[in-house]
Amino acid sequence: MLGVIGGSGFYTFFGADARTIKLDTPFGEPSAPVTVGVVGEHEVAFLPRHGAQHQYSAHTVPYRANMWALRALGVRRVFGPCAVGSLTPDLGPGSIVVPDQLVDRTHGRADTYFESGGAHAAFADPYCPALRAAVTGLPGVVDGGTMVVIQGPRFSTRAESQWYAAAGFTLINMTGYPEAVLARELEMCYASIALVTDLDAGIEVGAGVTAVGVFSEFEKNIEPFKKLVHEAIGQVAAERTCTDCQSHAGVGLPFDLP
Ligand SMILES: [Zn+2]
Repeated sequence: MLGVIGGSGFYTFFGADARTIKLDTPFGEPSAPVTVGVVGEHEVAFLPRHGAQHQYSAHTVPYRANMWALRALGVRRVFGPCAVGSLTPDLGPGSIVVPDQLVDRTHGRADTYFESGGAHAAFADPYCPALRAAVTGLPGVVDGGTMVVIQGPRFSTRAESQWYAAAGFTLINMTGYPEAVLARELEMCYASIALVTDLDAGIEVGAGVTAVGVFSEFEKNIEPFKKLVHEAIGQVAAERTCTDCQSHAGVGLPFDLP
């Protein structure tokens, strides 16, 4: 089964014929009940990251419960669509980018299931190559980029934003971590699909990023973005073809996988 975790403005994925499943996990309830439907040849589970009414801010999303719930349902491959700011004028609002690297600038989030023992997830390449390829093969999609994940909920200062841009990062977001590493620890494939909603404070010339601007830009692009996620699912092979996502967590997991 595939999973899709919808970001800001992306709260539904199926029509009325989808099944709704309420789940609980050792880490509490996920952001919302999971809806399960069919897209092409795949059964797909959808979860709105921030809750059905956007109750959870980026720093309070129950990431561990979300990933655990999907895995427990049978999901092994997950797309994480998200809204991002761009750190380069080359990628303007409306651009769709599949990052290949991330930088974690969050703090205080519960970002691991490993609470004892010597387990360390390999994370040099944080995204699944097979899932990435399913999206980057679609017309107009930008392949690659480094996404810096900030704690939020505030946006960046101009100086922070210029610093990230100078470091060579291309996208900025608040939710891409710890989702990606939790997927890895649970031996699931994961790929982000980033929709650019704004140029970040340090590289735009106007008043800086505002929540109103981000949400209105997202609203404008949300239907084509959902369509793109549907198309990406259509490109995903019936069985997993990668190897590393399933073995990175390695031996000696300090818990039983759900
Ligand atoms: Zn994979």
